[in-house]
Amino acid sequence: MTDTIFHKILRKEIPATVEHEDDEVLVFRDLQPKAATHLLFVPKMFAASITDVTEDTKHLPGMLIAKAKIFAKNKGIEGYKLQFNVGTGGGQEVFYLHLHFLSNQTLSASF
Ligand code: AMP
Repeated sequence: MTDTIFHKILRKEIPATVEHEDDEVLVFRDLQPKAATHLLFVPKMFAASITDVTEDTKHLPGMLIAKAKIFAKNKGIEGYKLQFNVGTGGGQEVFYLHLHFLSNQTLSASF
């Protein structure tokens, strides 16, 4: 049975700095940020990686990108990078599908 650190964060068994949560996604700060704002968009439905998506989970990457777009608009972030690391060769360390959101703009306090 797959169980990753992101499963534990989603179950609130280990802490994370959550910036947004809804029925489909949890958004939290990366522990080792590589930009002024470095967030991880993690779907509540599990897939291990882009390479592992199935008929049931193929919508997840697009959903994460759509959520990132809405999040950035709501927070007034005009420029950002979105990145999926795929497989160990692609730098993936946590085998729970996630989208990196990086921006040089600082995330203002939630309101
Ligand atoms: P990846 O290399 O694409 O699998 O990215 C995994 C990311 O998860 C890395 O950028 C890590 O810094 C981040 N990370 C690992 N553990 C935690 C954690 N407990 N809370 C927040 N971010 C984490």
